[in-house]
Amino acid sequence: MQMPAPDTTLLEGRAQIVAGLEAALPADAVISDPVETRAYECDALTAYRCPPLAVVLPRTTEEVAAVLRLCHAARVPVIPRGAGTSLAGGALPTADSVVLSVARMSEVLEIDTDNRVIRVQAGRTNLSVSQAVEAHGFFYAPDPSSQLACAIGGNIAMNSGGAHCLKYGVTTNNLLGVTMVTMDGTVLELGGAHLDAAGYDLLGVVCGAEGMLGVVTEAVLRILPQPEGARPVLMGFDSSRVAGACVAAIIEAGVLPVAIEFMDRPCIRACEDFAHAGYPDCEALLIVEVEGSEAEIDHQLGLIKQVARGFDPVELRESSSQAESALIWKGRKAAFGAMGQIGDYICLDGTIPVSALPDVLERISEGAAQYGLRVANVFHAGDGNMHPLILFDANAPGELEKAEALGADILKLCVEVGGCLTGEHGVGVEKRELMSVQFNEADLEAQMRVKDVFDPRWLLNPAKVFPLSASRERRHAG
Ligand SMILES: Cc1cc2nc3c(=O)[nH]c(=O)nc-3n(C[C@H](O)[C@H](O)[C@H](O)COP(=O)(O)OP(=O)(O)OC[C@H]3O[C@@H](n4cnc5c(N)ncnc54)[C@H](O)[C@@H]3O)c2cc1C
Repeated sequence: MQMPAPDTTLLEGRAQIVAGLEAALPADAVISDPVETRAYECDALTAYRCPPLAVVLPRTTEEVAAVLRLCHAARVPVIPRGAGTSLAGGALPTADSVVLSVARMSEVLEIDTDNRVIRVQAGRTNLSVSQAVEAHGFFYAPDPSSQLACAIGGNIAMNSGGAHCLKYGVTTNNLLGVTMVTMDGTVLELGGAHLDAAGYDLLGVVCGAEGMLGVVTEAVLRILPQPEGARPVLMGFDSSRVAGACVAAIIEAGVLPVAIEFMDRPCIRACEDFAHAGYPDCEALLIVEVEGSEAEIDHQLGLIKQVARGFDPVELRESSSQAESALIWKGRKAAFGAMGQIGDYICLDGTIPVSALPDVLERISEGAAQYGLRVANVFHAGDGNMHPLILFDANAPGELEKAEALGADILKLCVEVGGCLTGEHGVGVEKRELMSVQFNEADLEAQMRVKDVFDPRWLLNPAKVFPLSASRERRHAG
């Protein structure tokens, strides 16, 4: 068979862009070899892949601005990227795009313990922010389970949360300011190193905007004094429904644990095999952690255990040492990886009112049975932030589509009970077509107008968050 001749206009355009990027950046900061760009073809939503035209790895705000100016002039889309751990396809490239990775922008720029802030470059990993202030007696509160790898820029774009966000809030509650470059290369300073800022709260708009308004290059984060101590308690139950009801009762009782995490039997087993954390053999497990002095911990755990006893737990065990606590958290934080050893799965991320947990858990099992699929659950129960993991066989034709259809039903259920499509993973490409379930046309239009202001040509991460037809219309009009 005769191969079609390559489109030389396209090749020339591509070569020009790469030459422009190479002229603007240090030699080692541009990747255009198609074999090497494959490493950036997807994020943690691996079902979708597309190698980009090129990848750039700038080190400074000025280099980021230079890349954006060039791509803006040439009308080339740019996909910001941190560590590529997005579970929603937020960093998925298109074939005509340049991936702008902030991975090399990992410096700590300032630690100011008097004012309890740290300023870092956007590529700094989440965990290493806490590590940078540990010796001063501080920590950075939002703790996604991916914290060893994920970057602060990605956390800001997705407004990420974690197990300990029940008490401390998610990224937006711990972010004070950013330096951000818009698609035309303009450098903006939003917020500052203080609690409130004059003018419109554009920082609030940017946090959670999924890299569609600008590329964050630096961030000012609030750091908190390390608590005197912390202790988790394991609560085992013989049904998910009862465990869900216990979560709602703990919250209702007015005690504020720092974390309430939920796992059902498949997750308990997978995590136990991985971490040997001493999890009990039960249908549903809660890990509830409180912080403070020994006396405060004893008092809070006393109240929490009293509530739990009303639900006939099959296990109610406090951690007895720091080593045991570390193992308990090691197991929970490894849940997604441990489940990956069992098979392929889609990880959902919907949020519901805590009081709806028992019913929603039951309706998820019923839905799974109707589709002939298995669902495992591991999530931040105190926040009502659910992560049903839909297990499927990626090699079996039609299974992915079936799993995605069940996923859409579950997310619609979250909206139906008064919750929302995402708690922390974002919309990305994964949930963009479901946005019209959550928002009416006027709501969506208002959000898209914000994008129009920051990026009138719709070149920055253009096909994410909004239904694809709406994004395309906007981009063609831009
Ligand atoms: C095993 C595992 C566990 C996880 N656990 C959690 C969890 O507990 N909580 C949670 O919230 N999430 C969790 N996630 C999801 C993911 O880690 C978060 O969404 C994280 O914030 C993404 O960061 P990243 O640096 O990997 O960003 P990427 O995946 O590279 O990008 C994510 C989004 O951010 C944008 N972006 C990246 N950097 C910038 C920047 N500098 N400026 C502007 N936009 C940018 C990208 O365009 C994209 O839209 C988990 C993921 C995995 C794989």
